[in-house]
Amino acid sequence: MNTDQEAEESKKPLAPGLYLVATPIGNLEDITLRALRVLRSVDKIACEDTRQTQKLLNHFAIRTPTVSYHMHNEAGRATELAAALKAGARIAVVSDAGTPGISDPGGQIAAAAIAAGVPVFPVPGANAAISALVASGLVGEVFTFHGFLPAKEGQRRTALEALRNSVIPSEGRNAAAVEGPAVQPHIFYEAPHRILDTLADVEAIFGPAQHVVVARELTKLYEEFLRGAVSEVRKTLADRDSVRGEIVLLFAPALVPPPDAKPASTVGQEVRYLMKKEGLTEKDALKQVARARNIGKSEAYRELQRERNK
Ligand code: SAM
Repeated sequence: MNTDQEAEESKKPLAPGLYLVATPIGNLEDITLRALRVLRSVDKIACEDTRQTQKLLNHFAIRTPTVSYHMHNEAGRATELAAALKAGARIAVVSDAGTPGISDPGGQIAAAAIAAGVPVFPVPGANAAISALVASGLVGEVFTFHGFLPAKEGQRRTALEALRNSVIPSEGRNAAAVEGPAVQPHIFYEAPHRILDTLADVEAIFGPAQHVVVARELTKLYEEFLRGAVSEVRKTLADRDSVRGEIVLLFAPALVPPPDAKPASTVGQEVRYLMKKEGLTEKDALKQVARARNIGKSEAYRELQRERNK
């Protein structure tokens, strides 16, 4: 769009409909001109936390009324807002930070608006996953965003094991679009009080040499990227008094291992890890490792013996 078109666009009254407006993830300069115009012009702003959004609105001297729209009232509020939208209202939805609907409320109201035949407009802007990805050094053509991993250790390990065992078809990728080795990163949001445990799980499942990126406090004063072998990154963070701030974790396991390739960590390493971390007997640990690798118990046992005899 050229500047004349932009000027024309900004003079038009805002069309009725639902506006999903991205807001900064830490740096107020990341608000877009369009987001400000939309937030000023709508009839109402539905906010994940009205107090949080009010700080943003005050900063930009926006006086639009707000209403709460969060995880606990999302379904009911979506119905109510959809009725107002159907009657011709212009409503914006914002989350506390970043893009609504991405690990945040926003999805249900968008679906309700669409079902009611109301136009839905994205107003793009900041997003932690994409910001972390583009600066991670892992950008390829394909990536997978998982949101948050399960908080419970067992479920988290199962989710990570499923990733290790999943085969991502690499055919059809436009290899020319990416320089260097092909990578297909996985992206996760993670809480600071869980990052050390999660890195320990990544280390146990993908091996200590697995390259990871921890992107912390993106766009903020203390923005930090830790890149390296998971064992080293974990040690760097573990050596600190505490780990604080908001975190995105990324890593790209080896792509489609050839049929005879071994997983990044050995059976022995995984068995010892489970015995130490979960207090399992060797037999139970071996059973669990065999299940995770989708091989028989006796095959896992033979592998363990081979390692011991090396
Ligand atoms: N909707 C948001 C978005 O578009 O990125 C994400 C909301 S989700 C509830 C919050 C999580 O996003 C945080 O726990 C953290 O994992 C990640 N996150 C948000 N802001 C971040 C930042 N400035 N730096 C790193 N991670 C961030």
